[in-house]
Amino acid sequence: MAIQWRVESEGSVVVSQNRVEPLSCHIEDDGRERIEGSLPTLTLSPGYYKRAEYLLWLEKCKNTGLADGDFTLAESEGLMAVAEARAQFERNHPPCGVCSALQDSPFSTSCHKCGTEFMRRSN
Ligand SMILES: [Zn+2]
Repeated sequence: MAIQWRVESEGSVVVSQNRVEPLSCHIEDDGRERIEGSLPTLTLSPGYYKRAEYLLWLEKCKNTGLADGDFTLAESEGLMAVAEARAQFERNHPPCGVCSALQDSPFSTSCHKCGTEFMRRSN
């Protein structure tokens, strides 16, 4: 069992367990090895991912109406770290002005989804 992260196209982060097992039960052994080989290696302690999962859940709670005073100092600091990481992700993956698809890089020359060419700023 492994904890997996993935970033959805709209920029939300999903943390899940057993990501491989539901897919791999329908594929042959050769395909299973290929899929498992393409997954990123987890480099942090499993506790880190559990804490991040908790903070993402807490962020959802905050967005649905919990006040800042409802959180401990450690939770508030964690929520600030999540907000900072999300802002950094959004800077590195700006949305297409036409279809809103998040781009792989802020330096992309065209949208990977709709093909719109991006104008380059000239100085
Ligand atoms: Zn686009």
